[in-house]
Amino acid sequence: MSFDLSARLAARRADNLYRQRPLLESPQGPLVVVDGQPLLAFCNNDYLGLANHPQVIEAWQAGASRWGVGGGASHLVIGHSTAHHVLEEALAEFTGRPRALLFSNGYMANLGAVTALVGQGDTVLEDRLNHASLLDAGLLSGARFSRYLHNDAVSLAKRLEKACGNTLVVTDGVFSMDGDLADLPALALEAKAKGAWLMVDDAHGFGPLGANGGGIAEHFGLGMDDVPVLVGTLGKAFGTSGAFVAGSEELIESLIQFARPYIYTTSQPPALACATLKSLELLRTEHWRREHLNTLIGQFRRGAEQIGLQLMDSFTPIQPIMIGDSGRAIRLSQMLRERGLLVTAIRPPTVPAGSARLRVTLSAAHTEAQVQLLLSALDDCWRTLERDHA
Ligand SMILES: *Cc1c(COP(=O)(O)O)cnc(C)c1O
Repeated sequence: MSFDLSARLAARRADNLYRQRPLLESPQGPLVVVDGQPLLAFCNNDYLGLANHPQVIEAWQAGASRWGVGGGASHLVIGHSTAHHVLEEALAEFTGRPRALLFSNGYMANLGAVTALVGQGDTVLEDRLNHASLLDAGLLSGARFSRYLHNDAVSLAKRLEKACGNTLVVTDGVFSMDGDLADLPALALEAKAKGAWLMVDDAHGFGPLGANGGGIAEHFGLGMDDVPVLVGTLGKAFGTSGAFVAGSEELIESLIQFARPYIYTTSQPPALACATLKSLELLRTEHWRREHLNTLIGQFRRGAEQIGLQLMDSFTPIQPIMIGDSGRAIRLSQMLRERGLLVTAIRPPTVPAGSARLRVTLSAAHTEAQVQLLLSALDDCWRTLERDHA
């Protein structure tokens, strides 16, 4: 037998890298039931608390009554409904771009955009901490693929010197496992100087960032000139599912022609587009969600620093606690769970070796009292962990 899966699985276990799926038995929200246990959770990406919002659910139900449940075909055949089209127009208006194109999810949007834009003879340059879907997209494209140092415009500039063909610079907007922001103004400057295009995947910026939730582009006031390819996902702050690419008329028409993960898949359910249209409205207009979230972020950072936890350079709802060793990260996560709190340990290869962390995420659905509960539990558990280690 050539597939020695049991040995691979055993090695994964021995390295403290074995993955398990907590079984969620409730809707998403601060209070969940997982594996039969009620828990206060700080690990979903529902930053604005829209994943279980009554108005979004209602829009989905009304959409299902109007459109049925399935997309039925790909967009190019007969799966592109008015519901999808209206959402695309709203997303274009929201991002201040002429067009937006809906994808089934962020992974496919990234594969589709990168592989449609570059191929053999071209170059793709990526931040070394980019999301896995962007790295996979770069490899799949067949273009010359190189990673620059994290958020380092100088390192990018050196690679741009050696680039050939059409050159795409690709970065997360908010880095998903660190919570820091890409230095977009500097990256855009370097890219433009060399005639390269900048593609930003702002999966975690849309919603929390920008005065109207327009993400990192709104935060830095960057237009299509600076960021020609802007990707957003709908499963995080939007609380639903799917993704979009926003940009010029020509960009979107090219994706419709050449992006295989767009062409060769069934359109998402139109009712889902109806739900997302409602969540977009709430995301843009209910500023109190962003304001409350920012209050919680400040509260958490102050409290965690007092405890002596090592935080990262982040003012976003992603507030990881750096641990380093995978075993210790799992131990801390388990101790919190015994106290009724759910915070997932993130380990390699999701993050670089030796940088296991607890990825705390905050949501507008949390209360200050709940954040205080987390801080008290962390205070206790951290002390125990340090003592056991000493
Ligand atoms: C979650 C995520 C994706 C994938 O989006 P899905 O819609 O969940 O497939 C892509 N990029 C980044 C940065 C993400 O965090």
